[in-house]
Amino acid sequence: MSPPLESCPALVLNADFRPLSYFPLSLWSWQESIKAVFLDRVNIVSHYEHVVRSPSFEMQLPSVIALKEYVASARRPAFTRFNVFLRDRFCCQYCGSAFPTHELTFDHVVPRSKGGRTSWTNVVTACSCCNLTKGSFMPRECGMFPLTTPFQPTAFQLQENGRAFPPGFLHASWRDFLYWDSELDAT
Ligand SMILES: [Zn+2]
Repeated sequence: MSPPLESCPALVLNADFRPLSYFPLSLWSWQESIKAVFLDRVNIVSHYEHVVRSPSFEMQLPSVIALKEYVASARRPAFTRFNVFLRDRFCCQYCGSAFPTHELTFDHVVPRSKGGRTSWTNVVTACSCCNLTKGSFMPRECGMFPLTTPFQPTAFQLQENGRAFPPGFLHASWRDFLYWDSELDAT
């Protein structure tokens, strides 16, 4: 029994055979995949049992395709909670411990009350406990300095960090993906 075509997307790999993107996972509809095959833009890596037919051709639906030409990810990663946590590998930047995502929050290194901005270079992942302890102190006032100076990551750095986690771990984080993926208010 064949699944409906709509539930047969293809995973799109870059020319280096890594997913084109992890967040969200790069998936193309079966129509897009077939079009790319006909335009000779992709190699078929794997396919479904499902066969599509027209009067002039028949082919098994691709389930994994790889781009023939490498696409550099030049796009700057979005400034979202998920990406901040991913940059910091889901570890509190004050105590260094890893926490399940629902126990993580983020901290302004220079507190907002002291003019700190909500930006890549002033926001770090923190556990609730450290976040509470730091409160609205400057780092030197409470002796709490982030383990890594916050920075604007590249898409590549995030991808690399993502690869360190089992898919299930990240998948669990996708349950509230809309929440994760809403851009932080960069003020
Ligand atoms: Zn902590």
